[in-house]
Amino acid sequence: HATRFQQIKEEEKSKLVGNVFTNVASSYDIMNDVMSAGLHRLWKERLVGKLSPFAGMKHLDVAGGTGDVAFRIFDAFNSVKRRALRKVDEASHEETQIYVCDINPNMLNVGKQRPAERGLSDNRSLVWVEGDAEALSFDDNSMDGYTIAFGIRNVTHIEKAIAEAYRVLKRGGRFLCLELSHVDIPVIPNLGELIAGDRDSYQYLVESVRRFPPQERFAKMIGDAGFEKVEYENLVGGVVAIHSAIKL
Ligand code: SAM
Repeated sequence: HATRFQQIKEEEKSKLVGNVFTNVASSYDIMNDVMSAGLHRLWKERLVGKLSPFAGMKHLDVAGGTGDVAFRIFDAFNSVKRRALRKVDEASHEETQIYVCDINPNMLNVGKQRPAERGLSDNRSLVWVEGDAEALSFDDNSMDGYTIAFGIRNVTHIEKAIAEAYRVLKRGGRFLCLELSHVDIPVIPNLGELIAGDRDSYQYLVESVRRFPPQERFAKMIGDAGFEKVEYENLVGGVVAIHSAIKL
């Protein structure tokens, strides 16, 4: 059915998305837990489990928001480091960088406070960068990995975001995308209103899921951008999907 969200002009979309996440930034993390009954944690673990962190890696998490995925990658890297038989020298540790890129500075600011809250002093590996998925500020062939979780459906031109992922990845670099599939859960906007006091923001999120291409079509878009070994895995029967691809 037609809603006012479907009539929004493209140039207005970025601004709207900005407003949505500014309105919910402070309650974003708790919203995630409530709305997915904590399941988003398992889905993100599954996403991060598909990466192979190593000392000196450069990873880019786009639409990284409050850094929920980036912190998990950081933890995965640290546990690999602890398990390693030979001590990873400090020099290579220094070089390990996980960039959290998001268009909304409010989301990034919430994330920047999190290391202190977790009692983490060493957060030099995390770099917070304000930027648009469609026009990344990173060099060509500069990243070992790229993740985007619950982000790409908010992007105005999905093709541009995929093309940018391809551009910044090194050869052999992995693209991973975690995204909601087509579900219609009318209770979500009401919960959004309850917690964030902002029904419109969550109505927008529900609409954005509805308009996102189905798994097969999205996989084809990734392949069309030049990626190889395009695969996807449905979780919870397709409520959520992880698309994976490699730049060869
Ligand atoms: N990845 C985080 C997570 O899973 O917890 C945050 C997901 S949140 C649902 C979506 C994020 O996408 C917001 O922080 C929003 O600011 C960001 N975003 C929306 N459009 C964007 C764009 N064009 N470029 C970069 N980030 C964008």
